Amino acid sequence: MPEKIKNYIAGEWIEAASGNTFESRNPADSREVIGLIPDSNAEDVDKAVAAARSAFPSWSQTPAPLRGEILFRAGELLVKRKVPLGELVCREMGKIMPESLGDVQEAIDMLYYMGGEGRRLSGETVPSELPNKDARSLRAPIGVFAQITPWNFPIAIPSWKLAPALVAGNTLVYKPAEESPVCATRLVEILVESGLPSGVLNLVHGFGESVGEPMVRHPDVDGVSFTGSNAVGEKLAAICGTQHKDYMMETGGKNAIIIMDDANLDLAVSGALWGGFGTTGQRCTASSRLIVQNGIYDRFLETFTRRAEKLKVGNGLEKGLETKIDIGPIISKEQHQKVLDYIEIGLNEGATLHLGGKPYCEGSCAYGTFIEPTIFTDVRPAMRIAQEEIFGPVVSVIRVSELEEAIALANDVPFGLSSAIYSQDVNTTAIAERDLDAGLIYINASTIGAEIQLPFGGTKRTGLGPREAGGRGGALDFYTQWKVIYRDFSGQLQKAQIDD
Ligand code: NAD
Repeated sequence: MPEKIKNYIAGEWIEAASGNTFESRNPADSREVIGLIPDSNAEDVDKAVAAARSAFPSWSQTPAPLRGEILFRAGELLVKRKVPLGELVCREMGKIMPESLGDVQEAIDMLYYMGGEGRRLSGETVPSELPNKDARSLRAPIGVFAQITPWNFPIAIPSWKLAPALVAGNTLVYKPAEESPVCATRLVEILVESGLPSGVLNLVHGFGESVGEPMVRHPDVDGVSFTGSNAVGEKLAAICGTQHKDYMMETGGKNAIIIMDDANLDLAVSGALWGGFGTTGQRCTASSRLIVQNGIYDRFLETFTRRAEKLKVGNGLEKGLETKIDIGPIISKEQHQKVLDYIEIGLNEGATLHLGGKPYCEGSCAYGTFIEPTIFTDVRPAMRIAQEEIFGPVVSVIRVSELEEAIALANDVPFGLSSAIYSQDVNTTAIAERDLDAGLIYINASTIGAEIQLPFGGTKRTGLGPREAGGRGGALDFYTQWKVIYRDFSGQLQKAQIDD
């Protein structure tokens, strides 16, 4: 029997108000139902927002180091449960086991990092221009946040949102993706077990239009953090704009690796395979474009193709093959069809299908949504497959002659999340660092693999609002507001800026 999952509202695990459920299924084997999930609606959202609002005064006044300790404990529980949670990620979302364990590890890193912020939430103390007066700024919590996550990092991305918002003293209503709700539930259970008081974190399962949008529109929600598709992010930003809400929208990418003639060939091929086909291409930072200089183009394409052909597609939990599978399934039937449609679009646009291009159905894969690793050549930069996010194992290879041309092509998309260059010339890479228009730049490394201790996000249509994760300019800037305190202990009326 599949597990019956519940919402968590005001400290209680409860069913959706409607009593309805939907299924979460294993994308590698659709015969397996992993959970029955509450199909919630605006009524559940109302209860969750009310619980978050009433928990805010007490949580926001809980000393930040104590809030941080709860995150530390949650990190420790995740360490203990890393393997079973990794297996759940593999089963519910489909990414292969090493990556599933990495997903959990990223949440551990984030919980420890943000736990530490409990003792570091610093502002500034500066001298006042007047005697017997001091001046300082501090980070104050904001209120109730609505948080909405996608399925492709089912433990990691939720931790990116929950941990900083909680340590900063806010209370939350959280909706995970409908494709990975069991993973999200396990993370919430761990936070509750670690000591989070009732009402501070409220979990409401369900779909975007019936739960996500009512959360964003709710008048008692102060801010919104969303990660997902561009269309939804832009729509939600517009709603927030009319209601004067803070927002952070992390959306799509169309990332490129530039491979120059003087690149280390094997290293560049390894980076392109990892960036293009890792997580089945379902990362916002996936390297879906390879921009290759003329002199190395033929050798690169030959080696890249030979190694891509050897990648093993399959279920990451298949007995005896756990460590041998390289590419898992696509998350859903709809997304599977969307990727196949893009392959058709590429063919119709005149690109050459160099490798793959078909569903992969061998053995038990017949019950899953798999696609062969796919390479297009003769891709012109204006083609849709070179401009739009595909979110599958489909890579376009584009030939160029000069560095400037390569950088211009890398930048010539509506997104700006991650860009990479392989070259052994320091001047070449320095120019790329300066001129690539993206939030993340990698030198001699693939476009994927950001670490949590620096801000994460992109330029152009990749994002709206502040960045996520750690470091200066990261998530704490979004989840806190500055309060400035001037304390005058002169006992007289003192006037700043006014001449005597
Ligand atoms: P999606 O936009 O369809 O769904 C994301 C979340 O938004 C889900 O929880 C969904 O239920 C919810 N949602 C959908 N419609 C909504 C609405 N009208 N109102 C409120 N919530 C709504 O995206 P997806 O297909 O699940 O995720 C893949 C996308 O996420 C890709 O575009 C990828 O690039 C992006 N992504 C971006 C980052 C980043 O940090 N930049 C990271 C991971 C994924």
